Amino acid sequence: MVPVSYAVKGTPLAASLWRYKSWRSPDPAARACLLALLLAFLHDHGRCVWRHAGMPAPGRLAVVPTGCGRPGPHPLLALAAPYLRLPVTGLAVRPGEQGRDPNPDRFSAERTGPGASVLLLDDSWVSGASAQSATAALKRAGARHVAVVVLGRHVDPADRRSAPLAARLAPRAYDPDGCAVHLVSV
Ligand SMILES: [Zn+2]
Repeated sequence: MVPVSYAVKGTPLAASLWRYKSWRSPDPAARACLLALLLAFLHDHGRCVWRHAGMPAPGRLAVVPTGCGRPGPHPLLALAAPYLRLPVTGLAVRPGEQGRDPNPDRFSAERTGPGASVLLLDDSWVSGASAQSATAALKRAGARHVAVVVLGRHVDPADRRSAPLAARLAPRAYDPDGCAVHLVSV
């Protein structure tokens, strides 16, 4: 799992991660900003991620479902799929399998074909349970490798455990030259 950036609560990135998928009025500026962030990251650091995961460049794309029952494709899939141009492997929430802990039965995945390498996207990482559950479902459906790329790793400065990290991050701007694989700067 590689986060593109930390998303500290109260910052513009954290706000964009909510606004881009607002059910009633998705924010076009937030969508454009997140798409640019994702595409630039994959262009500059995709190879870092594949190398770290010990896999070839991904041949399929999947997005962690939100589980809120919204109709239509996931907003992140709708945003990124036309540009990534990878065949999509569908993931769906299994009714009655919600929860906060990783659970391989939480999602069902379409068959990926044997030995597939999958790029699994999510907008936010909080506990990691959703992405881990989706990874398990993809592996059960035939994937050999799954690389998880998350736009923002949630950090809440009001949370006692996150406060020291939030304080270290506060004065720093996002650095597009670095990534969590080849430059661990915090
Ligand atoms: Zn990198």
